[in-house]
Amino acid sequence: MTVAALIVAAGRGTRAGGPLPKQWQDVAGKPVARWTLEAFGFADPCVLVIHPDDAARAAEVAAGLDVTLVHGAETRAGSVLAGLKALARHSPDKVLIHDVARPCISRTVIDAVLAALQTTPGAAPALAVTDALWTGTGQRVTGTRDRSGLYRAQTPQGFRFADILAAHKAHPGGAADDVEVARAAGLDVAIVPGEERNLKITGPDDFARAATLLEDRMDIRLGNGFDVHAFEDGDHVVLCGVRVPHDRALKGHSDADVGMHAVTDAIYGALAEGDIGRHFPPSDPQWKGAASEIFLRHACDLARARGFEIGNVDCTLICERPKVGPHAAAMMAEMARIMGTAEERVSIKATTSERLGFTGREEGIAALATATLIRT
Ligand code: MG
Repeated sequence: MTVAALIVAAGRGTRAGGPLPKQWQDVAGKPVARWTLEAFGFADPCVLVIHPDDAARAAEVAAGLDVTLVHGAETRAGSVLAGLKALARHSPDKVLIHDVARPCISRTVIDAVLAALQTTPGAAPALAVTDALWTGTGQRVTGTRDRSGLYRAQTPQGFRFADILAAHKAHPGGAADDVEVARAAGLDVAIVPGEERNLKITGPDDFARAATLLEDRMDIRLGNGFDVHAFEDGDHVVLCGVRVPHDRALKGHSDADVGMHAVTDAIYGALAEGDIGRHFPPSDPQWKGAASEIFLRHACDLARARGFEIGNVDCTLICERPKVGPHAAAMMAEMARIMGTAEERVSIKATTSERLGFTGREEGIAALATATLIRT
């Protein structure tokens, strides 16, 4: 399935104030349009529909991204149709049509729209109206309205590409959004949960709200971990969750999985949460012989409880023997499984210390690890 994105940025955005249309103004260090385009970086192709006067600025804002600039029309619907026509030669299966002024769009909302498109020709996020609704004239309330069944519509609004292209071509104009165009063509549109944070920058105050949300989201943490275990008598070692036959064993209170301990400490470190010893004191007999998986799971759970996902993990095992290479793929798979993350985010590699030092003399194994945590 191919998913295209159509970002509508042809408006002049005068209500937001400032010297430029709002989509080209900075929020949290980048132009609004840049945030929005990056949120749709997964889409292929992606078109940005702009006012012809903004061509130079738009090219600068989209630099380095795989985005096609398309000139829009006088009306929003006209701009969307121009974008759809530009996408038509790629024949995408689905298209997500999004307002450039909603830069705080989350992957959660995008995925909900795409999931709903599996079973309905259209899908869009919305929030149920929870405030009481009044009518008023001047400064006086003149009546109330039933809010049940009313929604505040958001974007991206997603459609099967051929359906929405045909719907736009047939529509007489004047629609408030693409859902209205789709419904006029008889297409069913599913409502999926929107988010308050998916706000549309309209007035000057919205810049401050969007900045807070985007700065909050851009939280990346880095941690490191280091661990050593000495050899003792035995016939295998456990490294990154994998049993590796060897003529020695590693000595330790738990299963002495030196690699998993280093990774676990890297995650605790990224959270500024101390190390394994703080959460699982070696003085406590209940952790004797424990599978180190318990520690790693605890660190990952703590990260997720704070809203972080594992960005990536990189671990280097330092030893002359056993040879790690033949087991590295199994180790990465096992570590990814325990951490609940993709294997491509986990790297396990090994080096020797050129026969120098305690690892060179084969007195033990050392491991060092780096982990990044990302909150989105
Ligand atoms: Mg240890």
